[in-house]
Amino acid sequence: MHDPNCIFCKIAKGDIPSHKIYEDEDVFAFLDIEPVNIGHALIIPKKHYVSMEETPDELLSKVFIVSKNLRPKIKQALDANVVALTVIGLHVPHFHVQLIPRFKDDGLGGFWPTKKYKDSTEAETTANKIRSAISS
Ligand SMILES: [Zn+2]
Repeated sequence: MHDPNCIFCKIAKGDIPSHKIYEDEDVFAFLDIEPVNIGHALIIPKKHYVSMEETPDELLSKVFIVSKNLRPKIKQALDANVVALTVIGLHVPHFHVQLIPRFKDDGLGGFWPTKKYKDSTEAETTANKIRSAISS
């Protein structure tokens, strides 16, 4: 299952060249061409699924296990302090895990600007909304 218009499908098939770092039967990993830091890698299922929720559990597990195994290798190879793992999914509609090496004083801070809850009531109201959605 491939989407002929999907850039990640084309990369996984080798139709578009990439800086591949890992490949197996189901999973493909390559360097992001617009890295947040050097070594910023994307780990994708070779089959096209738009989102994490759409990806079958078994395949999703494989993507995360590959990500888990790549983290210490990227850390070691690039002498990173830590390798952050994120699933954002805003840019390309083909599910991907992002591994982003972090270095001391790399200027990224916490990635995103943070906010504060007005008070603990707002935080608890938010938690309640999510708990209600989980139990419905
Ligand atoms: Zn795709």
